[in-house]
Amino acid sequence: MLTLQCPYCGVQADETELSAGGEAHLKRFGPGSGDEAFENYLFMRENPKGVHFERWRHSYGCGKWFHAARCTMTLEVFGTYKAQTTELPQDIKDKISAKRPGWSWREFQ
Ligand SMILES: [Zn+2]
Repeated sequence: MLTLQCPYCGVQADETELSAGGEAHLKRFGPGSGDEAFENYLFMRENPKGVHFERWRHSYGCGKWFHAARCTMTLEVFGTYKAQTTELPQDIKDKISAKRPGWSWREFQ
């Protein structure tokens, strides 16, 4: 079972206490944006085999949204951080780089 530490209340929450919110760090496009940008925002996702950044909500705890960095192949969790964070925390970057040589943080638009 997936267990994530909520960065707000510090609880180690089982998957059953959490709600998945999809991919993290999406740039939102709305009215006035081009069709392609809006379509990409709505439908296109990374879905990588490996390091992935996701949104989770501590539904049966504090109720707050946060981000998790984990590996989709091994379910290894590299860390969690607050949802308002736009740049991946350095300690999580270092942890991922140590375990996945050659991995790099992609630039989000
Ligand atoms: Zn919490």
